[in-house]
Amino acid sequence: MRLAAKVEKIDTSPTLAITARANALKAEGEDIISLGAGEPDFSTPTHVKEAAIKAIEEGFTNYTATVGIKDLREAICDSIKEDRGVEYSSDQVIVSSGAKNSLFNAILALVEEGDEVILPAPYWVSYTEQIKFAGGRPVVVDTLEENGFKLTVEELKQAITPKTKVLILNSPNNPTGSVYTKGELEKIAQVIIEEDLFVISDEIYRKISYEAKATSIVSLGEEIKKRTVIIDGVSKAYAMTGWRIGYGVGPTKVIEAMARLQSHSTSNANSVAQKASLAAIAGTQKPTEEMLKAFDKRRDIITDVINDIEGMKANKPKGAFYLFVNIKDLLGMTVKGRKVEDDLTLAELILEEVGVAVVPGTAFGKEGYIRLSYATSEEDIKEAISRIKGFVELYS
Ligand code: PMP
Ligand code: GLU
Repeated sequence: MRLAAKVEKIDTSPTLAITARANALKAEGEDIISLGAGEPDFSTPTHVKEAAIKAIEEGFTNYTATVGIKDLREAICDSIKEDRGVEYSSDQVIVSSGAKNSLFNAILALVEEGDEVILPAPYWVSYTEQIKFAGGRPVVVDTLEENGFKLTVEELKQAITPKTKVLILNSPNNPTGSVYTKGELEKIAQVIIEEDLFVISDEIYRKISYEAKATSIVSLGEEIKKRTVIIDGVSKAYAMTGWRIGYGVGPTKVIEAMARLQSHSTSNANSVAQKASLAAIAGTQKPTEEMLKAFDKRRDIITDVINDIEGMKANKPKGAFYLFVNIKDLLGMTVKGRKVEDDLTLAELILEEVGVAVVPGTAFGKEGYIRLSYATSEEDIKEAISRIKGFVELYS
């Protein structure tokens, strides 16, 4: 049997694969700590779980509208107005089965055979594969550590060709924790408008900003708002990864196209999870604030210890819950007769030798780095980084 060529081009998500490997080793009784998954270790807030229980008890178990229940879409508009100061109507919102699903709908709605999509690297793992699946070409633009891994306007201009259709922005960023400033976004927005391009702005980590609140590109005026679809969801902000609710917000024409696709694929996002998400978005934000405080404390711990290890260095993240560590000075070391030539080998050896799962930078299109997720307990973080420290000190 021959599989479709479209699917042969796609790789399994490396972040999910590493998490699955760490879980399998744990199940075999190995002492593994995972700094692999980008998944909050907190439980979903109680009032959110209660809303789901109520929905089940009340029999809210049928199909919903393809684009999601109206009160959830309205709550999303209200939260965007409050948080980003920008108005949308509920027909400019589509609720999907996770932000990943909203993103896929957006890419399929916008990108066609031969279109180029500008993707600053390091990038989150699913963008490239979704673009390729749509028949588009990811134009990967390597960003520099000294620029905080952010795309400069010069780099953007250089990457644009007559085939360019979309720019993917992700701020706060996975895997670097970088956040674009208002000034940086203004310059980018100006080029997007001049060149008549479109932006997919993945803002899934927006609520996890540690310093100033992250700026959303849609808040920079009507012209750029008309050319942007926001991707967001409840997975990270409310510790709801398993509920699978995300959403896309943007121009009606794009949202309608995404809805047509969704009507033939997933029909609608899970009805009970939509009610739970309504409670999360419209209800108290206290649990999110508490989680943010905990992430912030962990961020300090992990950044300090890692920068203390000779051969490792990392910028302090401004958002999300990842530390992106430069390990270039460790390349060339030998571990039990095996030469560490790249980040892939280093990540593999850290897992094999000291039982800590991390993601190699190559998975994000950036060699010479590893990503550590600190969305895990403080105790596990401390133990994991002390193991990494011991490993480096022993072999380097
Ligand atoms: N965008 C980014 C940058 C992510 O890290 C993730 C990780 N899950 C997603 C989108 C998808 O989120 P969801 O769990 O809602 O599908
Ligand atoms: N986005 C998270 C990560 O980067 C979860 C895994 C995934 O969906 O890729 O680890």
